[in-house]
Amino acid sequence: MTTQPVSGFSRHQAAFAGGIHPEDHKALTSEQPIRTLALPELLLLPLAQRFGAPLETLVSVDQEVAMGQLLATSSDLRSVPVHAPASGRIVAIDGKPGSQQISLKAEDNRRWGESPLTGNPFTLESDTIIQRIRSAGIVGLGGAAFPTALKVASARSKHCDLLLLNGGECEPYLTCDDRLMREYAAEIVAGARLLARAAAINQVVIAVEDNKAEALSALREAASAAAEVRVAMVPSLYPMGSERHLIHTVSGRLVPPGGLSLDVGVLVQNVATARAVYHAVRFGRPLIDRVITISGGAISQPANLRVPLGVRISELISACGGLRADAARLVNGGPMMGQVISNPHQPISKSTSGILALTQAEVQSGDSAACIRCGRCVAACPMSLLPLTMHATARAGDLDGARAAGLDHCLMCGACAYVCPSHLPLTGVFRAARATHTANQQELKRQERARLQAQMKKERLLREALAREAAKAAAAAAKPARSSRRGAVAAVADTAETVSPASASEGES
Ligand code: SF4
Ligand code: SF4
Repeated sequence: MTTQPVSGFSRHQAAFAGGIHPEDHKALTSEQPIRTLALPELLLLPLAQRFGAPLETLVSVDQEVAMGQLLATSSDLRSVPVHAPASGRIVAIDGKPGSQQISLKAEDNRRWGESPLTGNPFTLESDTIIQRIRSAGIVGLGGAAFPTALKVASARSKHCDLLLLNGGECEPYLTCDDRLMREYAAEIVAGARLLARAAAINQVVIAVEDNKAEALSALREAASAAAEVRVAMVPSLYPMGSERHLIHTVSGRLVPPGGLSLDVGVLVQNVATARAVYHAVRFGRPLIDRVITISGGAISQPANLRVPLGVRISELISACGGLRADAARLVNGGPMMGQVISNPHQPISKSTSGILALTQAEVQSGDSAACIRCGRCVAACPMSLLPLTMHATARAGDLDGARAAGLDHCLMCGACAYVCPSHLPLTGVFRAARATHTANQQELKRQERARLQAQMKKERLLREALAREAAKAAAAAAKPARSSRRGAVAAVADTAETVSPASASEGES
């Protein structure tokens, strides 16, 4: 593992090559305190996981459950358990094993009672902290949804020496992390210290973009008594929230292509995850809600809402005054890297940080023209790739050419598409090309599996045929021996017949 000490931040704050400054639209929600959504009537809890084995359901239809009760779990450490976001009754469990969904008729979201956990959480053993994080079902809330307990345990076993809390939130419109940092700075700092203790790391940096002055101030005050925690201001530059770019900006360490942050000794966690860790370790509370930004020019009343997991997107939009007439697109996440929502009745997940309703003007989907080879996409690319070449080759069906131009290392950050004067749908083409490449790889693997199975079957049939031949040969070889035994018996019988009754009587006496 190659690591460098984090001795100061100014030296590294030249950030990285490329990057853009998109219009941030954060003022739509950044000055509004977090509100709590009124409890929805129905919560939908899909049990399919992005990582790990399918969950086993522990409840049945018509069963009454309490807020925070464990509903489904798995022994696979890559899976995380699911808990009831509110008290109520299970009204349906649909789907096949592995892709089930629990429907909960929510009746009450009472406040948490007294904590069953006592004592100072900062004296707990690393294993105990990791176990509480796992039991609480915490995943990375920045969007990756990777199980936090597993990542922390890996950081400990790889002897990471830096915990980097990601407060970048560089995507336009999203301000939920900004509000959390302003309103819950002390809980975030406490969660960071617990994460560091669990991973046996004694150096914590909370990195916040310089366009979040109040968050920086709140965190600095909260961290003033924690010697191991430092708050670093980083330039607001998209995509600063990318782990590899934040690590490089803060520490100067370079994550190798295809590598992980843990490979350079850094454990990266989102600020909202740190707060969830604090609640889990200090109070034993599972992850049953999160803060989400609902924004965009087509949302009547943009807001940051604390919402129970399982709430449907359509209900969040209704809670924010509904859609304006000029709504053109719904997006799950930020406008740069988010996914278009095709079904607004689907529920949010643990990794949903924002729901956007964008107008046609915000979507920027003007008619595309031919590439004029201006090179703006190359200058904007934070991975120093060749987006125009990737685009041209991918459009021509030349996947090898697209990969040679950098497709495998593309972050799908959308910076190139944002600056393209020809409005070429670069990121969409890259996504499609990568999906095709993945499908091709899977097909090759399937064919290889089929070939191996056919070969194994052929070898088994050959073995069985050889075994039959050998058995036949053995049987054939055994025939003369049996015949000669029969011959010997017959000879004895013949001999017996020649013995006289007199001599037989002599024998009996
Ligand atoms: S920014 Fe667009 S037009 Fe310019 S070189 Fe890149 S793909 Fe071509
Ligand atoms: S989407 Fe890919 S090619 Fe485009 S700027 Fe981002 S990393 Fe570079």
